[in-house]
Amino acid sequence: MSRFWSSLTHELKPYVPGEQPRMADLVKLNTNENPLGPSPRALEAIRGAAADTLRLYPDPQATALRAALAAYHGVRPEQVFVGNGSDEVLAHAFVALLKHDAPLLFPDITYSFYPVYCRLFGIAYETLPLDQAMQIRTADYRRPAGAIIIPNPNAPTGIALSRTEIATLLDDHPDVPVVVDEAYVDFGAETAIPLVASHRNLLVVQTMSKSRALAGLRVGYAIGDADLIDALMRVKDSFNSYPLGRPAQEGAIASLADDAYFQQGRRRVIEGRERLTRGLKSAGFEVLPSLANFVFARHPAHEGAKLAAALREQAVIVRHFSAPRISDFLRITVGTDAQIDRLLSALSGILR
Ligand SMILES: *Cc1c(COP(=O)(O)O)cnc(C)c1O
Repeated sequence: MSRFWSSLTHELKPYVPGEQPRMADLVKLNTNENPLGPSPRALEAIRGAAADTLRLYPDPQATALRAALAAYHGVRPEQVFVGNGSDEVLAHAFVALLKHDAPLLFPDITYSFYPVYCRLFGIAYETLPLDQAMQIRTADYRRPAGAIIIPNPNAPTGIALSRTEIATLLDDHPDVPVVVDEAYVDFGAETAIPLVASHRNLLVVQTMSKSRALAGLRVGYAIGDADLIDALMRVKDSFNSYPLGRPAQEGAIASLADDAYFQQGRRRVIEGRERLTRGLKSAGFEVLPSLANFVFARHPAHEGAKLAAALREQAVIVRHFSAPRISDFLRITVGTDAQIDRLLSALSGILR
């Protein structure tokens, strides 16, 4: 607290990211990073960009990267926006598209950055509860709304809606912007990108942090009608004209070009998820049906906070949220086979 702070700063409730501890022999399963590492071709491109040209500003429009993303996703470059991580893309979307007189709608249990942005940008919002099975019910969103944002799969449950359900949500709200945050879509859910052609109110946000193992590079993007992308550009150019540096633009392009590596990586994460789920279930956990690179699980006889603390003593870090309805759950990132084994054997010691 300081008398030099603005009144807004006093009111902020900042997002708390998962910790990045420095411990020996750590099994880090708390921030949904990809354990397999980025494409070697991406690393080579990033190294290649570490050159004398770094004295020059990067392309402010990221033209080559947007063209590569457009080709990859079958849209036009004017339908693509890129930013410094999808958190920044989302922040711009909140300002450009989600602030209206009627409230923004999102689920009660969801990505905890959304209410943080609402406070920062002065956006009125309402949350709608997940059902008993911890699922989003799209019918609940049939009410007055200024805009809607949902992650698909949802975070931190990992549960996904089908593309048909997303289409229903869009058809129910033809006159309000709908943002679908697809941070985890590459691990088995259906992307809504094909609906962009028929729905001018849809903005799909994706990231290279998870499925492309480039969280440290900070590349996120959005795909939608050119009119929505224009809005994001106006906000970007009122905030920071050069969000992506040269290494980030080059590395992202090279990652997209290495599709074999990408496909193999996501298959391995999906197999790891199935193995982790089986192991947790046989240890007595209830595991929600995840299509993400993490699972959300609770044990009927053990408190979530205590389990997380006991795992931490064995240098296994998972994410625990003390929020209502989910305080007994652990969110566990799908690690390598060896990390999954370490987690399961630590748990079996704790539960014994
Ligand atoms: C990880 C995550 C993001 C942000 O990812 P970036 O690293 O900023 O691209 C956005 N939305 C959800 C739901 C996430 O889990």
